[in-house]
Amino acid sequence: MNDSTQSAYEALCQHLRQTAVLESIDHLLGWDERTLMPVAAAEHRADQMTLLAGLIHQRNTDPQIGHWIDVLIDSPLAEEEHSDAGTVIRQIKRQFEKLSKLPQSLVEQLARTAVEGQQIWQKARAEDDYAAFAPIMKKTIELKRQQADAVGFPECRYDALLDDFEPQERTSNVRRVLAGLRDELVPLICQIADSGRSPDIGLLRRHYPAAVQEKFGQQAARRIGFSFDRGRLDETVHPFCSGLGPNDTRITTRYEEQFFPSAFFGILHEAGHGIYDQGLRSEWYGLPPGKDVSLGIHESQSRMWENQVGRSRAFWEYNFPHAQAAFPAALADVSLDDFYFAMNDVRPSLIRVEADEATYNLHILIRFELEQALMEDQLTVEDLPDAWNQKYEDYLGARPTNDADGVLQDIHWSGGAIGYFPTYSLGNLYAAQLFATAHRDLGDLDQQFASGQFDSLREWLQQNIHRRGQCYPAAELVELVTGEPLNHKFLIDQLRAKLSPLYGLS
Ligand code: ZN
Repeated sequence: MNDSTQSAYEALCQHLRQTAVLESIDHLLGWDERTLMPVAAAEHRADQMTLLAGLIHQRNTDPQIGHWIDVLIDSPLAEEEHSDAGTVIRQIKRQFEKLSKLPQSLVEQLARTAVEGQQIWQKARAEDDYAAFAPIMKKTIELKRQQADAVGFPECRYDALLDDFEPQERTSNVRRVLAGLRDELVPLICQIADSGRSPDIGLLRRHYPAAVQEKFGQQAARRIGFSFDRGRLDETVHPFCSGLGPNDTRITTRYEEQFFPSAFFGILHEAGHGIYDQGLRSEWYGLPPGKDVSLGIHESQSRMWENQVGRSRAFWEYNFPHAQAAFPAALADVSLDDFYFAMNDVRPSLIRVEADEATYNLHILIRFELEQALMEDQLTVEDLPDAWNQKYEDYLGARPTNDADGVLQDIHWSGGAIGYFPTYSLGNLYAAQLFATAHRDLGDLDQQFASGQFDSLREWLQQNIHRRGQCYPAAELVELVTGEPLNHKFLIDQLRAKLSPLYGLS
């Protein structure tokens, strides 16, 4: 390798590391805005974040990146596709070319419309007024079409939007997997509804003091492997996880004293995201080999700790006595079996964020199908609420009576996040398939969980997922680790195995 190749590579990496530091300052400002910032500071904060966003965009589209890539793309460094250096060069080429195809005017219009859209949505939702939201939604759809046409796509426009959240994934593949899931999930949920059995969820609605929930949740997060030396837990209205740097991962939750699962599973979920961020290779900080692969893979990490682990009987065999000691007034007269059944209550509902592990994916499927129809001109923005309500009736057997609990319930579309929703279901599906493989590789995980041991699963995830960074695209990574392409069977099998005995299904 000659000197000019080496120096181009080092200059590129240095440029990317500095951009990542700028981005982490932006994230820190975002974390502060949502947790501690006084309300009156909003305007100045917007100035700070707008300035940073401009600087970051400038650095990401700096023509010098193109020159470095030209030198590197045919060099020995890029030869091995999945090597760390090869990943840096390939991923940055992809990102640079994509960003460079977007006209500056469109980028600015998208950003402005997203801010405006969220403000209009907030009011429209509070007042249950879809007509007030429809014009900005129309504008958003039109801009997203322009965005897709500008960057190009392999099969359909939706591919281009999906790519922002799940790089290199195809709409046709997601459609295939979600259709398979739907065909088995709908009858399973019907069987559960017809079983005549349901848990006593009243026991979860007793009094659980917030301060005790915080301590109990923190202990559980620490035990599954979230490091509080390199992270912290705070309280916010909308829980999230923010990776601010190699040794600084912040998670948040919301405490409801009259509903135990809300904060507890929120903490396990965000800790799962946090464990992923903490498991990335810090020597590659800011570079593709040290970054998360996709939103779907990120969500698979949170969902696995929340659902496959946190809602398992083995997990509560260990944790329930601790829960009883922490909340004696609420749980002294409750059995482990009743508590475990209540944790796995399945019932169709209208609100996505309150949905259980099984019905959740139908909420996503509805949004995924509607987004595609909007992008392909098969559905108008005016007809969207009726189409939404009809799908809820068809898939979940429940029809919203107003748009606030229907088409207006999520913030995503108002901020231009179209193509985002399927990553939630991809996360559930990846989680199930990865967990099945971990089970195969690691032996009796239930026995480990029942004795409070979670290290082997966490280390397995670090080795197979976290430390690989972006060296493989999500779909390839899952196939490499599990030995087969994404398949809905794993999730269906796990749900059936857990829910059949609880609901007495044959
Ligand atoms: Zn998540």
